[in-house]
Amino acid sequence: MPSSDVIRHGEYVMTVCNACRYCEQFCPVFPAMENRRTFAKADLMYLANLCHNCGECLYACQYAPPHEFGINAPRTLAELRTASYETYCWPQPLAGLFRRHGVTTSLVLVLAMSAAIFAGVVWSGGRVYPSGEGANFYAVMPHSMMVGLFGAVSAFVLAALAFGLRRFSRDVNVRPRPPVTARANGLALRDALTLRHLHASGDDCPSAEEQRAPWRRWFHHATFYGFALCFASTSVAAVYHSVFGWHAPHDLTSLPVVLGTLGGVGLLVGPAGLIALHRRRDRALGDPAQTGMDVSFITLLFITSLTGLLLLVLRERPVMGLLLIVHLGSVLALFVTLPYGKFVHGLYRVAALVQYAREDAPIDRA
Ligand code: SF4
Ligand code: SF4
Repeated sequence: MPSSDVIRHGEYVMTVCNACRYCEQFCPVFPAMENRRTFAKADLMYLANLCHNCGECLYACQYAPPHEFGINAPRTLAELRTASYETYCWPQPLAGLFRRHGVTTSLVLVLAMSAAIFAGVVWSGGRVYPSGEGANFYAVMPHSMMVGLFGAVSAFVLAALAFGLRRFSRDVNVRPRPPVTARANGLALRDALTLRHLHASGDDCPSAEEQRAPWRRWFHHATFYGFALCFASTSVAAVYHSVFGWHAPHDLTSLPVVLGTLGGVGLLVGPAGLIALHRRRDRALGDPAQTGMDVSFITLLFITSLTGLLLLVLRERPVMGLLLIVHLGSVLALFVTLPYGKFVHGLYRVAALVQYAREDAPIDRA
């Protein structure tokens, strides 16, 4: 559970900002803040997830350190975001996992999952070094075993994400509001898909004082749309298999392979760029306690994509079996960490944007 210090400090920062209001044109955080006179925990969780950590309001702030008020809104909101992930996590005893991430734990998890799948393949009579099978993944791991394993894990992951999102959405909707409308959903979706508030004042996002570049936005886009294309590829392949009886391996020009290749490239470029930017970004903008959570998620995305693309290139070779096992181990490691890592920020951010659109705050929506 979040410490009461984080909540108290968030309440203090938002109270000062609400008196000042200098940053009210930067992003939805400030108009939403102005709709409130007091800041209970649920209000802070909501405001924190509206913030995209663009950094604009730190460099504009006359009360930022070394001023005695010590206002650092981007960092305070980042700390509150982690607190929100822990607060709404399901099942609650796993909330502590958000702070245990790191590149080392990600690598260990990939190795452990790959070892477990290797053992399962050997146990089920699959061939780790298939020869004369072309790109037949099911000679390594039977289709039923693949579906059973990933189906069970996906069901748990989806339930954990859905419970967390429901708890967040219900908690932040604390005042009597009109029902969710198509317009509110449309505005929220547009803002999320275009990352409208990542460059809050309309300019590119700062990475340090007076340093602006569009890269953070573009690497986020590459990561998100890469993930979406890989998901689409897997879904199309599942429909091919179960509805039409068209089994993998598919041609290089087939829809699942094209979608997966484009998505895989996005998931290489995006995470690699985000890691590079993370190292160069002004440390004052973020919460140092979140570094492990941020970097481990993008590392897992990168490993999953790299092993997937290698598998595509080398799928006719005997090494395909081992590559498939490591790729599936990477996917499994990514899946099991989704509800307890950085992935949840996307869901809570969209829910916060929906709430914001419902509140009809007076921000320019031209
Ligand atoms: S961040 Fe600083 S300048 Fe901006 S509203 Fe808050 S107190 Fe005012
Ligand atoms: S989105 Fe940018 S301007 Fe808005 S609160 Fe976050 S860091 Fe400040």
